[in-house]
Amino acid sequence: MFWADKIAKELATTKKDQLVNDAKTPSGRVHVGALRGVVIHDLILKTLKDQKVDVRYTYIIDDLDPMDSLPVYLPKEKYEKYMGVPLKNIPAPQGAASYAEFYANEFISVFNTLGAKPQILWTSKLYEEGKLDKQIKQALEAAEKVQEIYEKVSGSRRPRDFIPFQPICENCGRIGTTVANKWDGEFVYYECFPNKVDWAVGCGHKGQISPFKGSGKMPFRVEWPAKWAALGVTIEGAGKDHTSKGGTRDTADAIAREIFDYDPPYNIPYEHFLLSGKKMSSSTGVGVSAKETAEILPPEILRFLMVRPRPEQHIDFNPELEHTTPKLFDDFDLARNSKDPDLKRVYELSVINLESEKYFVPKFRDLVNIVQMPNINLESWAEKQKGTSLSKNDKQALKERVKYVKIYLDRFAPEAIKFTIKEDLPKEAEALSSQQKKLLLGIIDLMQEVTDPEKFQNDIYQAGKEIGLSSSEVFQAIYRALLGKNSGPKAAWLILSLDKDFVIKRFKEVASGT
Ligand SMILES: [Zn+2]
Repeated sequence: MFWADKIAKELATTKKDQLVNDAKTPSGRVHVGALRGVVIHDLILKTLKDQKVDVRYTYIIDDLDPMDSLPVYLPKEKYEKYMGVPLKNIPAPQGAASYAEFYANEFISVFNTLGAKPQILWTSKLYEEGKLDKQIKQALEAAEKVQEIYEKVSGSRRPRDFIPFQPICENCGRIGTTVANKWDGEFVYYECFPNKVDWAVGCGHKGQISPFKGSGKMPFRVEWPAKWAALGVTIEGAGKDHTSKGGTRDTADAIAREIFDYDPPYNIPYEHFLLSGKKMSSSTGVGVSAKETAEILPPEILRFLMVRPRPEQHIDFNPELEHTTPKLFDDFDLARNSKDPDLKRVYELSVINLESEKYFVPKFRDLVNIVQMPNINLESWAEKQKGTSLSKNDKQALKERVKYVKIYLDRFAPEAIKFTIKEDLPKEAEALSSQQKKLLLGIIDLMQEVTDPEKFQNDIYQAGKEIGLSSSEVFQAIYRALLGKNSGPKAAWLILSLDKDFVIKRFKEVASGT
């Protein structure tokens, strides 16, 4: 059984209404890895719905978190002064929205195209609307116990007067630099330290503030379970970084139970999702963003990449390696046409619109060759591949697939599979043997009676064999004459894609050269 169905089946027996949740801090362009959490939770939503469970999916944008590092793609002189300030109070690089909204919205629109449409919640709003008031009070009342849990679970010590609340400094607006040291039932007393963290400088202000209505936030390990309790989250997976023993998830679970009297949500620990390769990582310095990835793969294929492996499997996709991209498309087509129940299910949960599922599309690898040939009518070529005429869906699928084939060729394809027809006689053709030259003249004769490309391909091979040429010598002669290299796409198709007179002239030129 497909892994998400298994989890859903198990969960369906425990509770008939469920809330799936995931969250992200919009500290800049969102890394592609964050898409994995979104998709995993979306799969749980969809498989639970199939189990007739009343289920919702929320996605929280942690916009009250401070800016704690400066992305390399932003001007230092503009943003340095915002270090330590909540992301929602920082201007966006462009437009009127906040920094948090700008990057969150970019990410949301990417995962919406992948068919994931959770209800979006903003942490700042949860605080401002008083949704977390009860948990703030509970945490403050039990400050000592929170501290004990930190120590017991993660082994990290807090100062004796630790108060689990971080006010926004009323003087400088920073949140990353403040430390609260007292709670008197009405006010939290705090100080804004110049050297609390090494990424931001506080102003030294001392103040007192009511902790409600968005004046600050709980620390991450307290805020996380506070949200579970306030919203009623029953399922939330966590990435590898949080799930080590004694890590943030363990602490959050203990705080949920002991401070908020709440059973922690069902956890689905998941591994990293990376997109490697030199060409893409260089632009940001911090790896590839979700948005960039969505530009190189169609939504259902990108989703497929995350649906297929189990959550505990590491995903490292490198589009620059010779076979990875064509293989990914092939695997998707295989799942699309498969009768295997698991593969069929993977396909079903990968596509965005099941209505448009019935279509024929040529193999990615074949299209890689075909689109590089001049004068090819793609539709009639695809029609020959299919064996019958193309439907509207087929044509649409072909257009879409060709778009991504071209992106692949432009940006990632290794030189070995790229080719161009040489306008002038390539010097590589000069070194051909007299037998090879003889073969080229023979091909000119064969060209007069071509009815079928497959047959033509075989005729070329036979003609070479008859004059003592090996298969590689046969096709090398053609590739050198036309492309100036030793390899290329299927020779018969290549020849037939070109202007007949051009090929005849070229082959004669090569044959007469000495
Ligand atoms: Zn301050």
